[in-house]
Amino acid sequence: MTFVDSAFPLDGGCDCRQVRYRMTTPPLFVHCCHCRWCQRETGASFALNAMIESDRVTLTGGEPEIVDTPSASGLGQKIARCPRCRLAVWSHYAGAGPLLKFVRVGTLDEPDHLPPDIHIFTASKQPWVVIPAGARAVPEYYRSEEVWSAASLERRRAVAPRLEAWRAARRAAEGGAAG
Ligand SMILES: [Zn+2]
Ligand SMILES: [Zn+2]
Repeated sequence: MTFVDSAFPLDGGCDCRQVRYRMTTPPLFVHCCHCRWCQRETGASFALNAMIESDRVTLTGGEPEIVDTPSASGLGQKIARCPRCRLAVWSHYAGAGPLLKFVRVGTLDEPDHLPPDIHIFTASKQPWVVIPAGARAVPEYYRSEEVWSAASLERRRAVAPRLEAWRAARRAAEGGAAG
């Protein structure tokens, strides 16, 4: 892991400064995602997302609004946006729901602290984007057990019971809705 722990906490927020947040510790892992969905959602060539336990990101300004948005998995994502300027500050995906945030690194005041740990979905990377020699890169996705640091894997194990409880509640809700 290349994070400089002394850089934390890191503050960030939207353009109009109504939504402000503080990332209190280094993230679990940083994805540079080259999938077509991220390209469309950023209007650019890739997304840079810092994955972190939600309770390690605290609000220091107004609360973002959660917008239900389609996702590649078909299960949807929830994008947290400023209610005023509509800028997106983070996403929640179906896999971990509210327990993990995928913070948009570019919304940090000092985004330079969080370079990617891995480039994913490079199969659909725009051809002019050149991945630095030696950078970790995969055509699609990867197994976290093989690339995350021991510390990040340990942190994820700590979230696992709450994650299981959330998934069980979601299954129950879906069962209820279907029945
Ligand atoms: Zn705003
Ligand atoms: Zn993506």
